[in-house]
Amino acid sequence: MRGLAKVERSHGAMELVDRPRPEPGEGEVLVEIDYAGLCGSDAGIYEFESAFERMNLPTVIGHEYAGRVVELGEDATLFSPGDRVVERPIRGCGECYQCRIGEENVCQDAVITGVDHDGAYEGFLAVPEEALHPIPEDVPQKHAAVAEPTSIGARAVIENSRVGAGDRVLVEGPGPIGLLTAQIASAQGGEVVVSGVGQDAEYRLPLATELGFETVNVADDDPEARRERHTGGVGYDVVFDTTGHPSGLTSAVEEVRKGGQIVLVGQTGETTMPYSPLVRAEIDLQCSYASMYEDFERSFRLIRSGDVDCETFVDDRFSLLDADEAFETFVAGGTCKPVFDVSELRD
Ligand SMILES: [Zn+2]
Ligand SMILES: [Zn+2]
Repeated sequence: MRGLAKVERSHGAMELVDRPRPEPGEGEVLVEIDYAGLCGSDAGIYEFESAFERMNLPTVIGHEYAGRVVELGEDATLFSPGDRVVERPIRGCGECYQCRIGEENVCQDAVITGVDHDGAYEGFLAVPEEALHPIPEDVPQKHAAVAEPTSIGARAVIENSRVGAGDRVLVEGPGPIGLLTAQIASAQGGEVVVSGVGQDAEYRLPLATELGFETVNVADDDPEARRERHTGGVGYDVVFDTTGHPSGLTSAVEEVRKGGQIVLVGQTGETTMPYSPLVRAEIDLQCSYASMYEDFERSFRLIRSGDVDCETFVDDRFSLLDADEAFETFVAGGTCKPVFDVSELRD
């Protein structure tokens, strides 16, 4: 079988490599991958940002996927052949203090599928059964492939934000996590506005509109006038920063109301800013990272109910046989959530 691997420590440098079909070890099952999504962190690997220096190359990437169990390793008892599954791709060590107190998402020694070991852009994957999550019957396989990023949004909104009915919410960044966060914040009762920058005008802001959100393009909108229009000049109750850009936090501080909350979801790198205004306005600064079992459960319910509209959200135009096109288009903002048909790699 073939897999799409990162092969060199530079921009691009992804190649289809030959891989033997893996044998499931003890407590593992073999999963035949049907669909896999392209995530902002996969794009980070494509561009080879510093966070991925730790990777051993070549490594097959991809961590958001839906597949079917086809073979059981020794002592694997949780699933049967034919079961449809997704993976919780961030695996806690099970031993450290955070794992022991139920905070595996911030494990001191976590490993991530498609970063620390081979991932989902290949025909088959051997996975510890404990890391798998069953897909509910009425969720289509292609939609289940976005359960993982949906779980990130679910954690940010439901666990880590105070969004409630009638709250005015701004989601900065119309990327995949931003648009999932927006849909879940809306399901939780918020009145959601989505903001983007110049290059988002082509695909991502129109997609946000299609998903039912009011949008602003900060490149050609006057911030003062916009705040006045949306919040009567008061500012938003909750601002989610999903931009992954250093300006995300500083603009969130300008957009949030006094006494409001900022939830940082994207990893924005370094920024300097005066913090006293935050203290004087009693801004609640909350971070949200990755997701856990319960967030996946909620994610499937949100997909099933249609609160997360996968039909509109998923972009299935691209192929792993020409992945550069998908990645370059993603980096330029010309798509939001590509989902690949991985069966092409088994042909
Ligand atoms: Zn992801
Ligand atoms: Zn741990």
